Amino acid sequence: MKVLVAVKRVVDANVNIRVKADATGVELSNVKMAMNPFDEIGVEEAVRLKESGTASEVVAVSAGSSACQETLRTALAMGADRAILVNTDMELQPLAVAKILKAIVDRENPKVILLGKQAIDDDSNATGQMLAALLGWSQGTHISKLLVTDNEVEITREIDGGLETLKLTPPSVLTTDLRLNEPRYASLPNIMKAKKKPIDEVIPEELGVDVTPRLTVLKVEEPPKRSAGVKVSSVKELVEKLRDEAGVI
Ligand code: AMP
Repeated sequence: MKVLVAVKRVVDANVNIRVKADATGVELSNVKMAMNPFDEIGVEEAVRLKESGTASEVVAVSAGSSACQETLRTALAMGADRAILVNTDMELQPLAVAKILKAIVDRENPKVILLGKQAIDDDSNATGQMLAALLGWSQGTHISKLLVTDNEVEITREIDGGLETLKLTPPSVLTTDLRLNEPRYASLPNIMKAKKKPIDEVIPEELGVDVTPRLTVLKVEEPPKRSAGVKVSSVKELVEKLRDEAGVI
């Protein structure tokens, strides 16, 4: 059974995001980039499927500029067998990524494709769902537990007030949630080994995919700055401030 795993290169989760002066987006020059955290969880789960003998091959896929090779090398160092870079400098929106991934799925025929539940840069939470619709496959989103057998995929999702367990008929699109696993750090020997693993490159045109953006970003703004708090000396003063200054009571 082959498993595909989608990995996106995003601004590192520890970086303080700065909005560009012209409000067209966030600053990306000289900013540390990393694999989207939910995709690290996807790679970890795929590698665990291989280690348990359930999966025979793990293929990592990324769409974006040549810099995504670095993200793919991380996936390879974590244990993926090979990688595919869909190379483009165009801005990719979720629908374009879903179409690209569908084209790769059509070529590779995996039984399962793992994606993150959302990319921490655009927070769209859309690509997995769009991909499942385009493929006509079963989908399990925001999964916190996964069991794969020959004929069934069993997933658990955290929902309001409890856990939901679903059985899916494969092939399936699965999106990872935080509690699915704790991704491993790639060891130095595995980082070295990953340098020899293959990364195939294609461009969207070769896949017959039109990646033209369908959405226009009008403006990106910083959230309003929070003003400093004040200490009040009595409950009476607190109530007055809440009523007269904050206007909340
Ligand atoms: P989003 O719908 O943008 O929040 O992204 C959800 C998931 O789709 C991510 O966690 C990735 O697994 C996948 N994805 C989004 N964009 C890309 C990309 N450019 N390359 C590979 N995977 C992607």
